[in-house]
Amino acid sequence: MTNSANIKNIILFGPPGAGKGTQAEKLISLMGFEKVATGDFARELMNEESERGERVREAMKNGQLAPNEIINEYVAEKISNFDENKGILFDGFPRDLAQAEELEKIMEKAGRIIDKVFYIKCDEEGLIKRLEKRRLCTECGKITDTAGETCPSCGGKLIQRRDDEPEVIKKRLVEYNEKTKPVIDYFKEKGLIVEVNGDQPIEDVHKEIIQNLR
Ligand code: AMP
Repeated sequence: MTNSANIKNIILFGPPGAGKGTQAEKLISLMGFEKVATGDFARELMNEESERGERVREAMKNGQLAPNEIINEYVAEKISNFDENKGILFDGFPRDLAQAEELEKIMEKAGRIIDKVFYIKCDEEGLIKRLEKRRLCTECGKITDTAGETCPSCGGKLIQRRDDEPEVIKKRLVEYNEKTKPVIDYFKEKGLIVEVNGDQPIEDVHKEIIQNLR
């Protein structure tokens, strides 16, 4: 099955703190993708009083990946409700080989293919510094790297994400290196990886992605 020429389904791939969410927002406002952001879903579930909420809370507290069956079910359901005339942008999914294989099945069912996987490659030292600095707005949900206490977009109160605390960051990077990084080879074999330099300013990362999307 192939996509019609102008519909692109893409994955933003990279370590925690690479700026996937920021790049996702920029691409969506430019090109109107449907979005699958499994980190946003995991954060929603953290507040849910249920067994799956509890399992996700436990994983996130320890810098680990949330259980695959919870994440995969969410992705499958989300895609089945998307406008088929729009491309899909995946932010933070897939994050291990089992999810990558599941994604292939889900996409096949939807009559879609993945066109490109943008691997936002970053230096690990820089990532730790970035993650420690970043804050989440309690009002609009935006992530910012501001040093202040209020959100530059809406003036809401900024907090540190629990999983951006130094001890959890280290665990998230271990989880990334062990489970998520091998997914790069999986997509490399399929010829889908486009490597982007994630250590440059946001606008330059964005330009590099756009140049490779056309
Ligand atoms: P993110 O905002 O994408 O960095 O995700 C924050 C946290 O949500 C991760 O550290 C995981 O605990 C969980 N999470 C996000 N995406 C996934 C996924 N695809 N599979 C499993 N857990 C995920």
